[in-house]
Amino acid sequence: MRFLKIKLEGIVQGVGFRPFVYRIAQDHRISGSVSNNTSGVEIYATGEEMALENFLSDLVNEKPPQALIEDIRVTEITPFESFGFAIVSSKNDGDRLVLISPDLATCDECKREIFDPSDRRYRYPFTNCTNCGPRFTIIRDTPYDRPNTSMSVFKMCVDCKSEYNDPSSRRFHAQPNACPECGPKLRLEDNRGNNVSGEPLRESARVLRDGKVVAIKGLGGFHLACSAVDDVVVESLRERKKRYGKPFAVMVSDLNEARKYCEIDEVSEEIMTSPRCPIVLLPEREDSVLSKQVAPNLRDQGLFLPYTPVHHLLMREAGIPLVMTSGNVSSEPICTDNNEAKKRLNEIADFFLLHNRDILVRYDDSVTRAFRGEEYPVRRARGYAPYPLRVSPPSEVQLLAYGPELKNTFCLLRGDQAFLSQHIGDMDSEAELSHFEEALNSIARLFSLEPQIAACDMHPDYLTTSMARKSGLPCVEVQHHHAHIASCMADNRITGEVIGVAWDGTGYGPDGTIWGGEFMKADFTEFERLAHLRAYPMPGGDRAVYEVYRMVAGVLFSVLDSNDAEEEMERLFSLREEEREAIFYQLRNDINCPRTSGAGRMFDVAAAMSGVRKTAVYDGQAACEFEALASNVYEDYHFEINRSSLPWVIDTGPVFLEMLDDVHKRVSPDEISGKFHRTMALIIVETVKGLASMTGINRVALSGGVFQNIFLTEIVVSELEEADLECFLHRRVPANDGGVSLGQAMVASRAEREYRDLV
Ligand code: ZN
Ligand code: ZN
Ligand code: FE
Repeated sequence: MRFLKIKLEGIVQGVGFRPFVYRIAQDHRISGSVSNNTSGVEIYATGEEMALENFLSDLVNEKPPQALIEDIRVTEITPFESFGFAIVSSKNDGDRLVLISPDLATCDECKREIFDPSDRRYRYPFTNCTNCGPRFTIIRDTPYDRPNTSMSVFKMCVDCKSEYNDPSSRRFHAQPNACPECGPKLRLEDNRGNNVSGEPLRESARVLRDGKVVAIKGLGGFHLACSAVDDVVVESLRERKKRYGKPFAVMVSDLNEARKYCEIDEVSEEIMTSPRCPIVLLPEREDSVLSKQVAPNLRDQGLFLPYTPVHHLLMREAGIPLVMTSGNVSSEPICTDNNEAKKRLNEIADFFLLHNRDILVRYDDSVTRAFRGEEYPVRRARGYAPYPLRVSPPSEVQLLAYGPELKNTFCLLRGDQAFLSQHIGDMDSEAELSHFEEALNSIARLFSLEPQIAACDMHPDYLTTSMARKSGLPCVEVQHHHAHIASCMADNRITGEVIGVAWDGTGYGPDGTIWGGEFMKADFTEFERLAHLRAYPMPGGDRAVYEVYRMVAGVLFSVLDSNDAEEEMERLFSLREEEREAIFYQLRNDINCPRTSGAGRMFDVAAAMSGVRKTAVYDGQAACEFEALASNVYEDYHFEINRSSLPWVIDTGPVFLEMLDDVHKRVSPDEISGKFHRTMALIIVETVKGLASMTGINRVALSGGVFQNIFLTEIVVSELEEADLECFLHRRVPANDGGVSLGQAMVASRAEREYRDLV
């Protein structure tokens, strides 16, 4: 007989781990006990040598589908007395290292039950089990036990209680376990607060088919739903929500329906049907009947499958694809509370499908796509965050990186675990500030994190920068594009030097210009700017992000004689004369014309010149629509790399001049777009090749929002690989600013080390 103590860490709570241990203990005649504690699962086991070995092997190899063992420690201990095997109650001690699984989409068995008329959970919208259901959105504290969740107010009925206590049940210790008898309930109200009689889901489906907008309380917040095949209602939802150009996501009942609208490859299918159930960007089919208002002028649609029983039941009743967009007014955080939603969404929704289980933490839907056979994330939230990412090298201090301003996430770093927050949003309003703080408090509490160092962007005007400075912690400022590259390195778990290509819209440059077309030699400690795109004046500063024609004026003014530039502006856009004159007055006298080398802006300019659009309602709209047009061509425009001194400057002047010629020759926008994309890709490839032979570094990290453009990225990666350079793309965090906080944390942890070595 041997006596063992087995400690497991990872996702081992809330996924049916203890009943599983109980079952395999029975199988192998092992005595002892299993319990949850704040760091994971603890097992005491005794039995014959052979039996123990089989038990241990089953423990690792037969684990429940959603479990993830990150660490297993087996120690021989002094004999203890035991009769049979028992599940003992949770202990609250030690470091809180336990990893709770993210919220999981409804499993197949639960799905079967809700559609089975003979089941006691038939049509019950809050059905869940240890393999699926809410987690982070209902948890208040660890350990993950019912009293620490928003299910605590629902007292389990006799039937639920017996499942909960039955180790052979799929619902053994399923903390959110519930049924129609004892669990949360749905109700439907109109926007004047009147209850709508009838079965709430059937009635919701009926009004949705009638072209109404319904606010639906979901897992991490409210959705606004409407028919995705009805132009009128989709357009009116845009008006009411004040979300004009940005694409909406569409929920479809299953994969077969999804295939009617989009091309779905194997990897996308795998991602869509995973328990994370994110929105997946997919190329739309020619014959798709989805409203053109859903994703105006874009090639891809964001589709996702139902991930809660409410969704499954509703989709089946409605029988049409539904727009499901976050329940907020444009740019505000998503609503979570019934009364808050009724107040804030009153003007938007015609009906409210509500329930009485509280959402404790706000989560948006995640957005992702497949690219070159792997996941390529766009927005990380539900189903992903804040499950920690393993990084190397580990940090010796606990750190909080505040992230940038737009598409903000923050990152808490402890050892080799990086807790990247869910997508927070654009940190430019008080509302987002409270969302940030709420998420920070919840993650810090759940994982007992106490940061000793803060990290932030170098930009002096970012709200996140001033928050970091006011935090009372020593604060490390990290250059935006260095953070992008460090993020890509951490994402790929590589260390040492790389050639980093950071292409995005905007980032604070230490030389007083706006950066964003960057080539650097970088590691986690430092970076050297080796090359960048030519900088152009940006008349009116940030206004040019939306009034794209301003940026065009900045480029034309730099590549043409100023009178010719003005004439050209006249030809391209019919601006009011006073406005055109004002812009050129600004340019000639250099008034409020910061210089930008942001690559995103160059795509905007090309889009506007070729007639795609002269103004944008969201950052990068012109560039996104321009990408959607691009056709495969083998021609490109001329560019020059000035290598006379470091950093090299890549002159895109000739690119725009040749492009203007094409515009005047009425070459089709598809072809112009194709040529421009190919040109920008070749700029990256030629520059990187040059820098690789100069530095002897052959690893390339690609980061920044521009690499969300997969038409461009595809050309870049295949050409770099052709040249025998090793390419690293983001795989676990977004290439856009949603991944920047991870890079900030990695750089700051090294800066801190250097600092302490000196002391
Ligand atoms: Zn289930
Ligand atoms: Zn019950
Ligand atoms: Fe950026």
